[in-house]
Amino acid sequence: MDAKVNRKKLGLKEKYKLLTRDLGWEPSYHAKEKIFPYATYEGIKIHDWDKWEDPFRLTMDSYWKYQAEKERKFYAIIDAHAQNNGHLNLTDARYLSALKIFLQAISPGEYAASKGFARVGREFPGVGTQVACQMQAIDEIRHAQTQIHAMSNYNRFYNGFHAFAQQRDRIWYTSVARSFFDDAMSAGPFEFMIAIGFSFEYVLTNLLFVPFMSGAAYNGDMATVTFGFSAQSDEARHMTLGLECIKFMLEQDPANLPIIQSWIDKWFWRGFRLLGLVGTMMDYMLPKRVMSWREAWDIYGVANGTALFKDLARYGIRPPKSWDDAEAGIDHMSHQFMLGFYQWSFGTCFHSWIPSDEDMAWLAEKYPKSFNQYYLPRWQHIKKLAEAGTPFKNFGVAKLCQTCQLPTVFTEPDEASLLCHREGDYKGEKYHYCSDHCKEIFDNEPEKYIQSWLPLPQLFQAPNFGDIGAWMAWVDLKDGIDNGDYVGSQDEANFQAWRGLATSNSNAQAQGEQ
Ligand code: FE
Ligand code: ZN
Repeated sequence: MDAKVNRKKLGLKEKYKLLTRDLGWEPSYHAKEKIFPYATYEGIKIHDWDKWEDPFRLTMDSYWKYQAEKERKFYAIIDAHAQNNGHLNLTDARYLSALKIFLQAISPGEYAASKGFARVGREFPGVGTQVACQMQAIDEIRHAQTQIHAMSNYNRFYNGFHAFAQQRDRIWYTSVARSFFDDAMSAGPFEFMIAIGFSFEYVLTNLLFVPFMSGAAYNGDMATVTFGFSAQSDEARHMTLGLECIKFMLEQDPANLPIIQSWIDKWFWRGFRLLGLVGTMMDYMLPKRVMSWREAWDIYGVANGTALFKDLARYGIRPPKSWDDAEAGIDHMSHQFMLGFYQWSFGTCFHSWIPSDEDMAWLAEKYPKSFNQYYLPRWQHIKKLAEAGTPFKNFGVAKLCQTCQLPTVFTEPDEASLLCHREGDYKGEKYHYCSDHCKEIFDNEPEKYIQSWLPLPQLFQAPNFGDIGAWMAWVDLKDGIDNGDYVGSQDEANFQAWRGLATSNSNAQAQGEQ
């Protein structure tokens, strides 16, 4: 007969201890260095993994419970959005360009982050760290999935959503985000944590998610708002993990400081360059704008960043080396990007357009130091060419930065009328960079960056051999449908016709407009 045992119900703290610390047994028939071979080669010294503070102490059962609840809500809302033709509530279908860039460049980054965290969760010897990384790996794969599911409904009606997985690997602008995550994933576990956990999640993620999700809300895109909320509640945990990790490394050994500082310098700049895509979306692609990229930077970059680096100063950490150049670039980058997207719009799987007079007045107001002086005259010239029936297309191939992979469209930090371009030699080959910081990142690890796959030289290699049509087929871009100006596009015509059907009594009238 079984005796009745009075089992004490475990508190959260004890449950968590059982989940983590008891897994950290001392191996007896293998050396620890053999089990965790990647923990030391970066030079980071950890003396006591038990000093790791687990900020959330989330147990697996409560993790599944929270996430399942969020999934239920998420799928209920995107289902309703699809059933009710939610796409017709958008302010304008040109908004979808922002979403296409997100799907092609950012969602694959979520998947990459998942792979990266799964890997470092295995590579770190500390169990608290292992569990936190494992949970973040599951979060990130969920982010990729919910984003793809939320946007799949738009793929039924609009162009440019159909081949994001292919384009992630092949098209030129997605290569910027891809190389960012590839660089992080091919680094050691501690650098990965600084790259993704700290620089991306802690320093920069608010600049991506907050303006992007409010942009979605302002423009009637409930599907995106929903995945945004679902992901944002994980972000708090991710940001804490990133900050916890950096403080832990700094407290473990003073010799870690210079290594960590150099990673902060590198990954802040890489993240800053990547976010140029977001700035362009905010300033140019939202029919109803939330705030300018400059305003978002002042709130989420300057205010938050200043507080953060003040806090880290007691460990000897200083703000990223490129901070002042980033600040100088804020007033220019979105304009430089959009001018690039417009002139190379035959090669983008989304639409771009010339800003309207009203848009340009708004840009002039938000960018008093730069827009009227440097960018208005260029847009006016481009507008004149378009009106004359000879729209400006640039069929020249831009020089790409070997590090960030962006075309070198940026200007000198202290001279906005001078293109910024750096050159360097390595083992008899010439390399090009968009900035001093990208050159420095290359110079610190040349053997890594000479291996970069660059999307524009690919145009001249097999199977494309300089044939743009062949290249379009290879990147799965349908010429005249996915690319080019929004004005006159199939997306524009369809949206107007469908919206006409949804908001008027007369089918004939709406169809007549097609
Ligand atoms: Fe994520
Ligand atoms: Zn660069």
